[in-house]
Amino acid sequence: MGKLIDVIETYEDLLKRPNFHASLSFHPRGDRRFGTVVAPYRFLDKIPCGIEACHTPHLSGYLITTGDDLETAIGGHCGKKYFGVSFTRERKRIDDAVARQRRIATVTAMLDNMAVYLKAVESLERDYKELREKKERLMGAIGPSLFLELKNRADRGQTDITEEVPMTQVEATSYFATSNRKANDGKGWPTKSLLLARLEGMDFIRSRFKDMLVVNLITPMRDLSKLTVLDIDNMKPRALASTAKWVGEVPVGLQKAQGVVEAGHRFFQSENIAKLVHLGASQSALAAMIGDLRAEESQSIR
Ligand SMILES: [Zn+2]
Repeated sequence: MGKLIDVIETYEDLLKRPNFHASLSFHPRGDRRFGTVVAPYRFLDKIPCGIEACHTPHLSGYLITTGDDLETAIGGHCGKKYFGVSFTRERKRIDDAVARQRRIATVTAMLDNMAVYLKAVESLERDYKELREKKERLMGAIGPSLFLELKNRADRGQTDITEEVPMTQVEATSYFATSNRKANDGKGWPTKSLLLARLEGMDFIRSRFKDMLVVNLITPMRDLSKLTVLDIDNMKPRALASTAKWVGEVPVGLQKAQGVVEAGHRFFQSENIAKLVHLGASQSALAAMIGDLRAEESQSIR
């Protein structure tokens, strides 16, 4: 990897540097030319631009060297204005290096904590296998068309299973009084929805849980765990950028994955699966699975 970029956090960091000058004159006011960009700076208070002809206060900019090996701090726009493309090219080189350094630090930090992450991944993997088996078993028990209906309900956020039943005389009387329906309007006796059951854990049925667990977390985490710090240092810019982006998304991804796993455990409760008869699943087809879930529940310490 390239040389590390100096970290400049305070104005004192600049003043400590032996060749640093708060202000320098540059061509055409003298012979001095721009040298290289050393590092970016960003302070809480503005400092005057080091180009003598400018001296505009800047919050952020770059520490640069000069042709005669001195240093000063200038604003980014001033660099472009006074030194042109030789500055902007240098600035890009340093900005890229700083971004790369930050990405390497991000990815390396995850590698340092890999034992913790792998433990989380192993637990997700167990949950994934268990929930996938249960899902396949359920699909076998209720058949693809009923499973599709379940999926459609989950997509619509419809967790209640209801049935339309005729209103009682009293209900119908008040209904006719408060709507534009009439008892003898020929549209039939009014009905109401009766709640038969409320399904739990439908977020699991709705989710793309293989993507959430395997594609987004388990596989890339295992891939990363096989790399060394040197491998990360040598990563191509594009791969490093996408890995660092993924690392940044891992905390939220883990949280979402754990949420969907919990939903899956709630869905596959014996009591919840038994509710599927209200959707038309046959009691006898579900019996074996419900029995096994019940046995599992009585074994668990919860
Ligand atoms: Zn300036």
